[in-house]
Formats: sequence, C-alpha cells, structure tokens
Amino acid sequence: MPGGNTRHSIALSPYPVYVSSGNGCLVTDVEGEERIDFINNFTSLILGHANPDVLASVNRQLEKGAAFSLPSEVSIELAELLVNRVAYIDQIRFCNSGSEAVMLAIKAARSFTGRPEIAKFEGAYHGIYDYAQVSEGPSSADWGEAEAPRSVAESGSSPKVADDVVVLPWNNFKACGQLINSHKNRLAAVLVDVLPAGLGMIAPHPEFLRFLREQTERFGILLISDEVMSFRLSYHGAMQKHGIRPDLTALGKIIGGGFPVGAVAGSAQVMSVFDHTRGMKVHHGGTFNANPVTTAAGLETMKQMTVDAFDRLNKMGDYIRDRLARMFQDRRIPATICGDGSLFVAHLSDAALLDYRSLKGFSRTNPIYVELCHEMLAQGVVSTPRGLFGCLSTPMSKAELDAFVTAVDRSLNVLNYRP
Ligand code: PMP
Repeated sequence: MPGGNTRHSIALSPYPVYVSSGNGCLVTDVEGEERIDFINNFTSLILGHANPDVLASVNRQLEKGAAFSLPSEVSIELAELLVNRVAYIDQIRFCNSGSEAVMLAIKAARSFTGRPEIAKFEGAYHGIYDYAQVSEGPSSADWGEAEAPRSVAESGSSPKVADDVVVLPWNNFKACGQLINSHKNRLAAVLVDVLPAGLGMIAPHPEFLRFLREQTERFGILLISDEVMSFRLSYHGAMQKHGIRPDLTALGKIIGGGFPVGAVAGSAQVMSVFDHTRGMKVHHGGTFNANPVTTAAGLETMKQMTVDAFDRLNKMGDYIRDRLARMFQDRRIPATICGDGSLFVAHLSDAALLDYRSLKGFSRTNPIYVELCHEMLAQGVVSTPRGLFGCLSTPMSKAELDAFVTAVDRSLNVLNYRP
C-alpha cells in the first residue's frame, strides 16, 4: 500500500494505531490498549461497535447469503423506513458509498435539468467524485477573488472539470446570489451540506439555506443536500430543521449500520431519471447496491434510532460542546466550538469564523491538531489529526464525554500549549 495506507483520512505519522476490535464506544488496539472512540468510523457508527441486535440481524442474513443478483425484501424495508421518516424523500436508490451517492445526485440533476454545471462551496468535502472534489481544500495561493472563488480541480481530475463547477463562498449572500444568477442557465444544481466538516462545521447563517433554496427555485436549479454525515443530526433529516425541501439528498454512513453504503433520494419527479420503466435516463449499476447485509444492518440501526434516541444523543452533544467551551474559557485559551447534534469541532481560535478562508491557520493543516491527536491517543481517546473533532455514539454516557474533555485538558498541559 503506497504510504502504508489505503484511506488518506486515517493516515497518521509515523504510523497509525492498528485496531483489533471494537465494542460499544470502546476500541482495542493490537497491543491490547483500550480507548474511547470519538470518531466512530468517521461518524458512521451511530450505535457504536458490535451492537448486539445489529450483529444478530447481520448474522441471520449472512447465513442466508451475502449478496445476490436478485433483489431482497430487506432493501424495501429500509427504503420504506427512510421514505416515511423524511418528508422530502419520496424515492430512494442504494449504492455503496457517500461519494457514489453525491455522484448519482449530480448526474440526476444534470439529466433532469439538461444543464452541465454544478455549484458547491469552497472548502466543502463531498467525497471523491471529480466535480464534487473541486476546491475541496485549496491553498491560499489558489483562492482567487473572495466574491468569485477560483474553481480548482484536484490533481487526477481533468482541469476541464473545474470549468463546470461554480465555487461559492459559504455564508456570503451577495456573492452567492450573483454567482448563481450569472450561471442560472447552465447550473443543474447547488450542492450543500448543512454542517460542512471541511469548513470546520461553521454553521450556516440562519437565513442562508433558505436563501439558497429561493435562489435555486427561482431559476429551476436543483438543491442537493449532502447528508452523508449530517443525516445523523435529526430523525427527520438534516434539512427538516431548517424547514427546507431539497430536490435531492445524498445519504451514507449511518444508514448502513456500519457497512459500506450510500443512497441517492429525492422527489419522485427528479428520481424518475433512474426509472427504467419510464425510459431510464441515468444508468445506475452497482454489483453490491442494496446488498442484504448492509441493508439488514442499516434497517436495525435506523429502527434503534428513534426520536428519543436522537434526542438523547443531541443533548449529549450540547453537553460536551458546553463543557469544552468552559474548559477553554477557564484556561484562557481562545477557542470556538462549532458543531450541532452529536458532532462537534473545537477550533483553537476566537477569530470570527464565517467561511473557508476565515479558517486559515486553524484548519486541519495546523500541526497542533496532529500533536493533539497523538496525545489524545496516549490519554485513551481515539480522535483525528485533522482538527479537534468528535462524534458521539449511543453507548456513550456523561462519563465518556467528561473523559474526552479531561483528555483535551491534559493533552494541552503535556504539549504545554500556548496560543
Ligand atoms: N459527503 C460528506 C459530507 C462526507 O462527510 C463524506 C465522507 N466523509 C462523503 C460525502 C463521502 O462518503 P464516503 O466516504 O462513504 O464515500
């Protein structure tokens, strides 16, 4: 494996800790060391590891077979559960990753509107489809104008990809309005995540998402909600809280109950581009789509995630965000706590955070976060070197949340951190 790695998001220098097993909110490494898992496979394990009912469900399915070239009933059950919960989802199709889900949503939007371009936010991460990757983390030399950010294609993508992507500055009403207006006849969709992790989870201005909905609706541009991560924020979907109906939604992570998954979902009208009985427009293959092991795990997981379960988890999120804020305050360390529901990020800065550019110097590239990650591992917590980020799972209780805050506190001491 080049760099000894097969997934850049989990690389850690000089080498990462290798896991042996997981149970609940704990993971044990190959040397037998136990730690609290605050990453949960990048937010996908909302019930933590080895949930007994998910295991039973998966084992029952495995005995019957892992994957077939015939559809299985369990995929209908998961589809029905999701369609019934989320007001803006009439129809859904499964795939195997969040990247695929975003790709399919973009293709559906292009096919439905007959337009080539998409718009996305500077710094936002949406997986590894070429168009979604444009300007996912540009360095300041490539930024261009603040009101009209340059579209930067990732190495490995054709530079032409950037021509079909309009890069928008987060929370900038004026620039977004102008850019959408000037591309209105060529834009198929605006792609947005209500809580973009690549932007350090800087919250949207309270009116921003509504503004995007109005601007897109006006010009027949589709709104794609990337809820691959943010679907864990609410029983009814991440956009519900904002009272907005996106045309398409990309799902992944928690709906697979720990197994590889993705899904594209949306209004019946737009989703009809996938309907082979009505002259299918967008071809959607995938050997492992809606495989019964993933869908069985996802169904059991989503059933356990009742309104009350979401509520409890989100309240724990409020608790840890508040405790972190108070800890930094007591230590007189400038910090800003972002996040929502069961997700949080602590930025070691009290500068106003508005958009990707305002994160400069405090983003995941700041070496302090790598040092903190190493020290947090020593303090018994699995975190990430790409920011002081955390994600909760249902087996956690206050004890684990307090342990996280204590681990940060001690790590700052060990590192002798001075702002
Ligand atoms: N969109 C968002 C918002 C994500 O957080 C991720 C994964 N972290 C993806 C898309 C891509 O999902 P996957 O890794 O399953 O391809």
